[in-house]
Amino acid sequence: MSATTHPGGRDLDRAIAELADDLPGPLSALANVAYNYQWSWTPGGDELFASMDPQRWRRCGGNPVQFIREMGRQRLDQLAADAGFATRLDELVARVDLRRPVERSVAAGLDLDEDHPIAFLCSEYAVHASLPIYSGGLGALAGDILKEASDLGLDMVGVGLMYRSGYFHQRIDTSGWQHEYWTDTNPENLPAVIVTDDCGAPLRFSVPIDDEDVVGQVWRVDVGRVPLYLLDTDLPENGPVGRWITSRLYEGNRSIRLAQYAVLGVGGVRALRAMGVDPAVYHLNEGHAALCAFERFAEARRSGLDHDAAWQRVRSATVFTTHTPVAAGNETYSAEEILSVLGSLATSSGIDDEEFLARGRIHPEDRSEPSGMTPLAIRSARSVNGVSRRHGEVARSMWQPLFAPTPTEEVPISHVTNGVHAPSWICPPMRGLLDRHLGAEWPARASDPATWEPVARIPDDELWAARTRARTDMIDWVRERAINDRLRRGEGLGYAEAVERTLDPDVLTVGFARRLATYKRLHLVIADAERAIRLLSGDRPIQFLFAGRAHPQDDEAKRIVQTMFSLKGADGVAGRVAFLEDYDLTVARWLVAGCDVWGNLPRPPLEASGTSGMKAGLNGVLNVSVLDGWWPEAYDGTNGWAISGEVDADTAAQDRRHTSALFDLLEREVVPWFHERDADGLPNRWLAMVRRSLQTIGPRFCATRMVNDYVTGIYPPRL
Ligand SMILES: *Cc1c(COP(=O)(O)O)cnc(C)c1O
Repeated sequence: MSATTHPGGRDLDRAIAELADDLPGPLSALANVAYNYQWSWTPGGDELFASMDPQRWRRCGGNPVQFIREMGRQRLDQLAADAGFATRLDELVARVDLRRPVERSVAAGLDLDEDHPIAFLCSEYAVHASLPIYSGGLGALAGDILKEASDLGLDMVGVGLMYRSGYFHQRIDTSGWQHEYWTDTNPENLPAVIVTDDCGAPLRFSVPIDDEDVVGQVWRVDVGRVPLYLLDTDLPENGPVGRWITSRLYEGNRSIRLAQYAVLGVGGVRALRAMGVDPAVYHLNEGHAALCAFERFAEARRSGLDHDAAWQRVRSATVFTTHTPVAAGNETYSAEEILSVLGSLATSSGIDDEEFLARGRIHPEDRSEPSGMTPLAIRSARSVNGVSRRHGEVARSMWQPLFAPTPTEEVPISHVTNGVHAPSWICPPMRGLLDRHLGAEWPARASDPATWEPVARIPDDELWAARTRARTDMIDWVRERAINDRLRRGEGLGYAEAVERTLDPDVLTVGFARRLATYKRLHLVIADAERAIRLLSGDRPIQFLFAGRAHPQDDEAKRIVQTMFSLKGADGVAGRVAFLEDYDLTVARWLVAGCDVWGNLPRPPLEASGTSGMKAGLNGVLNVSVLDGWWPEAYDGTNGWAISGEVDADTAAQDRRHTSALFDLLEREVVPWFHERDADGLPNRWLAMVRRSLQTIGPRFCATRMVNDYVTGIYPPRL
């Protein structure tokens, strides 16, 4: 498949040709590579760009289009004359060639093709660090689904928003307090093109919002074979509020958030239509895109269907994945709030206000109940699923009132457990090791347990060498980053340089990195400060790496970071603990690969899935986790460590129990087993667990298994 397929293909070809003009002839193929993120999960891709100019590559944040545009002609000519580089470029070009035939994924009962794909709608996508339109786990999952759909030859298009300022960045001051700031992204510097219509003018769609007809345009970003269409309202035709809609991810202003939902859901359908795409299935990934149901209802009515038949048609092609087991995560809005922003949309779609509001309520007839996107999505979909077995149970009981009097066990909400895109998350040393032992094309067979059987025969020394390399690479990166973080916030030189001296590439390293929501309970690690400090400074020391952003309004979570910082003066702590600012895809990639242990302490049952532990598992990092989200499905007593997942209303008592369980495990098993070495200095018992972890987590929590589950269990219409 060349870039010319799918709407916007012509625009992409033009952009590629323009970029190729900037390149010496022998390098012109780089332009093709640059305009498709396929390079980012192809072995050698990142390395090839980095080898051209490591400093600039880093400064450009891994954005190959900006990188090439900024690179001087002299260096390009030098590379063009370098036979070694030409060979490596040829190899990469062959590996990212999407015209290679793939066995296509087919969903029974659906005629999928380019014009009738699965439309995947989501408010955020974490495809690559250079495309900053994500905040965390939901985006990481969405990015991984697109990449896996591409690898599996599934006809899918993504729909999202092109945020000009994305999600906030985090800075910590010397007192440990989090500050937020936003930076602007110019989409013209990204591997993205504006989709034009048949006359060559930028394609337009519009959505009535408040009393404005908000106009949008569409950017196309290629994720392998899957085009991701990003909607953008920052256009001169719109007023300042209209332009602001696609400015920030999870904008704090509630009316703007509703407007974003309208652009994503309604604008998404209109943009697809304008591009001639008629999806076979609309996959709403979380509720943000739920308003698309109203647009499709209006279409069905215009085609002559009566009211009930029109809703039937909407449901027949909608599937919904819920990700939020926390009531507060499923926002609701009053009738006034909704009608002031979306009233004109309801009217122009021919839906009366009361029905518009009622479909978003749990009890439609209760006019005092606020409305939300999740009930609307549930009601508009023929299939609803959670993202782990346990989350499926939680979702059934949470949404039972919407299905009353159906008993909880019979509530029609299933689950597809999340998975992660192995080629994106496995670090080079582990990828090399797996390629040698599983056969180079193993990712195509990743969901088959037999693929992972040879892991049992990887010799200890090879496995340990790969794990040591991963840890050492990470520590090198962390040191540089942590020193910069400390200098920037104005710490003393001694404290800043302590990282350089004491973070140790040979020391057992435990990572805790996640969104700093209170339920993730990072505070448990420091709840027993004395015990923590003892571990850090003992004769078999360990070191901790932390990262995570707190929601700008979540002062409680910010105080946890501050408490952690207050311990920095304690003896032996400064060089054994680092908090990495601004947790994002780049930080995540290093940490999930280089740590020895990955900690996760959610308050059960509030973790829907948790995918960072899967990323860790695929890298041979051992999980220590509360049995919540995905971990009850994965943990078998041989492949990591577990802390009770029981629910307890007495949260303080539960916190105390879980803190002591965590430290018991660390003191009695994790630390001694890591240090138990044979005559060759190899930790045999530890490595046996690493093998078990790879073998059990690899096949079941890779995105290949997940997307296959959607293709076989969720997308096919139930006949
Ligand atoms: C994978 C990932 C997440 C999700 O991790 P959890 O286990 O759900 O905490 C969040 N943020 C980033 C940047 C990720 O890569």
